[in-house]
Parts: sequence; structure tokens; C-alpha cells
Amino acid sequence: MVSCKIIDGKQCAEELRAGISVKVAALEQKHNMVPGLSVILVGDDPASQVYVRNKEKAAQKAGINGQLIRLPATTTQDEVVRTVQKLNGDKTVHGILVQLPLPKHIDSAAVVQAIDPAKDVDGLHIENMGRLMAGLPGMVPCTPLGCLILLQKFAGGIAGKNAVVIGRSNLVGKPMAHLLLKENATVTIAHSRTGDLPDVVRGADIVVAAVGQPELVKADWIKPGAVVIDVGINRVGDRLVGDVAFDEAVKVAGALTPVPGGVGPMTIACLLANTVEAFERSIAPARR
Ligand code: NAD
Repeated sequence: MVSCKIIDGKQCAEELRAGISVKVAALEQKHNMVPGLSVILVGDDPASQVYVRNKEKAAQKAGINGQLIRLPATTTQDEVVRTVQKLNGDKTVHGILVQLPLPKHIDSAAVVQAIDPAKDVDGLHIENMGRLMAGLPGMVPCTPLGCLILLQKFAGGIAGKNAVVIGRSNLVGKPMAHLLLKENATVTIAHSRTGDLPDVVRGADIVVAAVGQPELVKADWIKPGAVVIDVGINRVGDRLVGDVAFDEAVKVAGALTPVPGGVGPMTIACLLANTVEAFERSIAPARR
């Protein structure tokens, strides 16, 4: 049996956040201003409420000026866009995040494209997506960035490895694949139409599962010793489980993230890191 390292995302995120707090304090001393992050929440989706509260709390703890803007579920698309535009023009706001999903009557893409790319801390604006694809500096989506940091720490090198990303969303799967490509992995993107997914995954030294299907990835899909990053958050009864069958995968993988306590905390830490980065670029735009 391979001995599996359980990757402590909480610990890693705490280290990252401690560094961010120190940086924010130094920036405040130098510029007499702190980075500002505005999170827009439309409606009352219970999961989103928890996520935005955690983001706001984490921002405040790091010394970032976190502001939560709550809009009712009946808000029109134009009203949300106008809120975004107002934040675009606010010099005290360096990062803007629109919590997804938005209510059905609002076109998320239209709202996201209204965000100033320099303040797009979720990295979903097409300019930032294009920059990532072109290998240029830009805002990278927080969750794949968090996964990359974990892989850089625990994968024992990424270059030359076979990486399989399961899921092709703009938020996780696609940017994850580009980040791994940038690190010189050989990358396969698998998705709902992939034929023989278990066989594709069996070839992977690195697996990133971002699907949203409870415990989809089984132990016999995993190459012994592979590093497995589980992005999925699925509610099963009163438990949260990932996209990987943790209890069996732990017997095969070389390293594995738990759910909760793996990727989730890293996502928030990376949101703070992106906000600080956006602040620094606003002061010295040549960094962009
Ligand atoms: P999404 O629904 O936008 O995309 C899911 C992807 O999975 C799609 O590309 C689809 O093709 C693929 N897929 C669906 N069923 C499949 C199957 N049976 N086999 C192979 N591929 C399949 O979801 P998302 O936004 O990318 O999120 C994925 C998961 O990650 C969700 O559980 C979400 O809650 C979680 N998530 C976690 C964090 C975090 O911070 N930990 C952040 C974002 C998303």
C-alpha cells in the first residue's frame, strides 16, 4: 500500500494568508491605503451567503478593506452592471468579485465582462482568460491558482508529468489546464463526454477533479502514487464530500486533498492574494 500524504490546504492557506497580512501592513505604511475588495451578492442562495461571508471575514482579517454589497434577487441585470461600473471607478476598490451563480434572469457573462479587467480578481473577464491562454501576466481564477500552489508544493515537480483535469468550466477546469501547461505538464482535459474516463485518469501522475459529482473518482482509476487534487464540493445528506472517493483513494494516491480542508481554504487565500496584486498593479501599472 502506498503511503498517502493528506495535503493540508487549511495549513497552506494560513501560511499564505499570514504572508498577505504582512504585505498589506507594509503597503499601508508605504501608501497610506489598504487594498479594497468588493464582493457583490445578488439574491439569497444559502451556499453563496456562506462563501461571501467567509471571503469578507478573511479579507478583514488580512487587513484588506472587504465590502459586501447585497442586492435583492429581483435586481435587474442593468442594475448589477451599474453597481459594477460604479466600483470600477472607485479608487478605493482594487478587486471586484461577483458571486456566481446569479439569478436566472441575469446574464452572468454580461456582468463579468463589465468588470474592469484590472479589478477582476476572479480572473473571469475574457481579457484575463486570454492573458492566461497566451501565457501573459493577468488575474488568474482563485481556485485553480490555489490548486497550482498545492501542486507546486506537493507534486514533487510538475514539468513532464501527465496531468488530467476533469471538468472544463471557465472557473476551474480550463484555467487549471492552462496553468498546468504553463508548468510544462502534458495536459488532458476530460469532461462529461469523455469516453472511458477511468482509463484516461489511470494515465495521470496528477489528477485535478473539478466536476461536482460526489465521489466520482474511484481508487481503481488512480495510478499508484498519483497526486490528486479534489476541487469538488458536494453536499450528501449533512456531509460535504469531494469528487474523489476519499476513503478508498487514500489507499492508492501518493498525495490527496481532503474535502473540506483542501482546495476551499486555498481559494479564499488566493482571492486575497489577487486583491493585493491588483492593488500593487494599480500603483505601478507597468507590473501588468
Ligand atoms: P461546472 O458545473 O461549471 O463544471 C463541471 C464540469 O464537470 C463540466 O465541465 C462537465 O463537463 C464536467 N462533468 C460533469 N459530469 C461529469 C462526468 N460524469 N464525468 C466527467 N466530467 C463531468 O462546475 P465548476 O464550477 O467547475 O465546479 C466543479 C466542482 O468544484 C463543484 O463541485 C464546485 O462546487 C466545486 N468548486 C469548488 C471550489 C473550491 O473553492 N473548492 C471552487 C469552485 C468550484
